[in-house]
Amino acid sequence: MTSRFWQEATDEARALDRDDPLAGWREQFVIPAAGQGESVYLCGNSLGLMPRAATVEVQKVLSDWGRLGVRGHFEAEPDWFAYHEALAPQTAALAGALPEEVVVMSSLTTNLHLLMISFFRPAGERRCIAMEAGAFPSDRHAVESQMRLHDLDPATDLVLLKPREGEDLLRTEDVVRTLEDLGPRLALLLLGGVQYLTGQWFAVELLARTARATGAVVGLDLAHAIGNLPLALHDWDIDFAVWCGYKYLNGGPGAPAGCFVHQRHHGQTDLPRLQGWWGTDPATRFQMDDSFTPQAGAAAWHLSNPPVLAMAALKGSLDIFQQVGMPALRRKSLALTGFLHRLLSAADPPVKIITPAGADQRGCHLSLRVAGGAGDQVARLARRGFICDAREPDLLRVAPVPLYNTFSDVAAFARAFLESRGETA
Ligand SMILES: *Cc1c(COP(=O)(O)O)cnc(C)c1O
Repeated sequence: MTSRFWQEATDEARALDRDDPLAGWREQFVIPAAGQGESVYLCGNSLGLMPRAATVEVQKVLSDWGRLGVRGHFEAEPDWFAYHEALAPQTAALAGALPEEVVVMSSLTTNLHLLMISFFRPAGERRCIAMEAGAFPSDRHAVESQMRLHDLDPATDLVLLKPREGEDLLRTEDVVRTLEDLGPRLALLLLGGVQYLTGQWFAVELLARTARATGAVVGLDLAHAIGNLPLALHDWDIDFAVWCGYKYLNGGPGAPAGCFVHQRHHGQTDLPRLQGWWGTDPATRFQMDDSFTPQAGAAAWHLSNPPVLAMAALKGSLDIFQQVGMPALRRKSLALTGFLHRLLSAADPPVKIITPAGADQRGCHLSLRVAGGAGDQVARLARRGFICDAREPDLLRVAPVPLYNTFSDVAAFARAFLESRGETA
């Protein structure tokens, strides 16, 4: 690339930043330092940055704890007993769900287990689970261990959805065919919404409809989708979904996660479920009389009283999402990631971008295939102040996040990436 190319890219980025209606939100986040200045942080797909509001909300809970002691359960605002309930409407808006269809609780893998206990009900020949071959390892561990709980053998009953030979992405038509072929043998389709390695946003609605038409249940892992793309879990008729709070949701390391259970499953008395006192009707919870009266919605799966300190940080972030709204975030995200795609596509030799080019098939992040060790290149970029991540051996993931990244971040990264790719050590 010529220096003229980069001059034009930088000028264009500045103009785009100037016209960006969301530009002001960046100041609401703490950008990690690099050297004397700020890093260019492009790793929100892994751990979202800290909103300044997180400090305020956490400090408030600490101060209420000191001031009120046990009375904080009822007298703090929001009160600690129902702290998670205060987060449900905001979370539901991000999930495209009714407030009673979501509950903020626990961690992603735990929630996946809790919901699979209820919704993976193998019976007779209907006992297969279909999931991506390259699914996040924790999801694979969860699925295999659930199969063993039912005395099933993953070697025969786990169906891995694979890209074609020589390809990186799943083709929708191939997945549809596999699901239809499985037909009465398919018990559960478990799909990552945005694939964590490739960045591919699956045709979730179509695949869910196909799987449900065979009589199967559909679960989604939205770790890389929530807060990244607009979701409509209720309208898509998804049976259940789980996600974490620390990636695009910016809830902090190990943040409370969430889950979704479609309204049509609420109040179903024949669903087996692992129970805890927070899943019971709050009106009778403290009578301590051993009877379990499940809450009406997804909260029936809630086990324990909420980790309020951790939820406070998440609240700081969800308040921002509520003010900005997913449609505006998505508009900027498409422009931001589209700009990165365009700059990298102009390179010679070309950059192999694994993530689909179509805007309707991806979220924020792009996965780039690099030669000579992704980890080494990520380390070289880090020395220049660019934070992104590697998935060895050869994938580099870069995620421009519309809440806090700029078009100038993207232009600077594209240049640093291309300049650093030929270097060694
Ligand atoms: C990040 C991520 C996880 C992590 O699981 P935890 O239970 O939060 O540790 C699991 N699955 C997917 C798809 C992820 O992206």
